[in-house]
Amino acid sequence: MDTIINPEILGEISREDLDSTPSIWKYRAFLPVNEKHKIVSAGEGGTPLRKLSSFQGNVWVKDETKNPTGTFKDRGASLAITALSALGVKDLVLSSEGNAGCSFALYSHIADIACQVFLPRQANPVKVELSQKLGAKVTIVDGTIADAGRRTEALAKSEGSYNASTFVTPYRHDGKGTMALEICEQLGWKVPDYVVYPVGGGVGLVGMWKMFSILEKIGWIKKRPRFVAVQPNGCAPVVKAYNSKKVDVDEWKNPQTMASGLRIPKPVAGKWILRCLRESDGIALSVTDAEIRKSMGQAVKDEGLLLEPSSAATIAALHHLYGEKLIDRSEEVVVIATGSGLKTLEQF
Ligand SMILES: *Cc1c(COP(=O)(O)O)cnc(C)c1O
Repeated sequence: MDTIINPEILGEISREDLDSTPSIWKYRAFLPVNEKHKIVSAGEGGTPLRKLSSFQGNVWVKDETKNPTGTFKDRGASLAITALSALGVKDLVLSSEGNAGCSFALYSHIADIACQVFLPRQANPVKVELSQKLGAKVTIVDGTIADAGRRTEALAKSEGSYNASTFVTPYRHDGKGTMALEICEQLGWKVPDYVVYPVGGGVGLVGMWKMFSILEKIGWIKKRPRFVAVQPNGCAPVVKAYNSKKVDVDEWKNPQTMASGLRIPKPVAGKWILRCLRESDGIALSVTDAEIRKSMGQAVKDEGLLLEPSSAATIAALHHLYGEKLIDRSEEVVVIATGSGLKTLEQF
């Protein structure tokens, strides 16, 4: 991926200059904001990186459940709302499977921006309710996230609302990209061999790849990690396209999985996701809902980690990675625990 970096800013900072307060905002020089921007923050980022004791091997978990609304979506929403308030945006609209709606509802509420969310009928009821309680106007749409996306586009056009959907707005992937910066810093600027990531729209994957690439370019790290992209086998369009060497992702017909954050039949950024995977010499694999369910129980029992299904998919993937000897136990692995199970208790 061609990375556009601002050498003037980055040339002036060194690793030692980073603010000591853990937050995405200590990496401000890497983000599309400047000193004039008033930061809209709820304490996102700066999440723990801890060793997973139950896996023999060298596995760390990046615990994104600790974010304000329980998922890493808060990173993207904090950055987007910061930039949008500086631009004078008064109202925004987005489509979501649930978690992005909660994050944008919270940050819009803080910044006095009106927030409207279109969610598919299948969306998790707690996520719907939380978005509403945080002040968003919520519309449930018959059909999939793609149908919610069409309603979002239509409204953005007719009302002039800002469309904050995945890869329509540029801010969300930079916000999620801060996970790459934190992981490197938390490992003492050593880079893990693998980052295991549950791919839905691919925002985090593309965002982290951009940041790893910038870090390598400016010499803060020596190499970039390999990605492991994980999807449920009832909706695995990226896994299918990558493993059959396609350059774009075909729509997955009749997506069915308990992992609602990964129920994205045709990610808008399919080509970018595949390119990041190829550039990183990555691995793509799918897991069953039964494996996801088992991993949820295991993560809570062995590690005290309460995960939602989309997030537990990565734990399920670890069994494949080691069992099928796709990776070696000596290699350093970081698993992203993207979301808390507190919103999805009915699936536990
Ligand atoms: C959104 C989401 C994902 C997928 O993230 P993308 O960056 O869109 O690929 C994974 N897990 C959880 C819990 C999510 O909310």
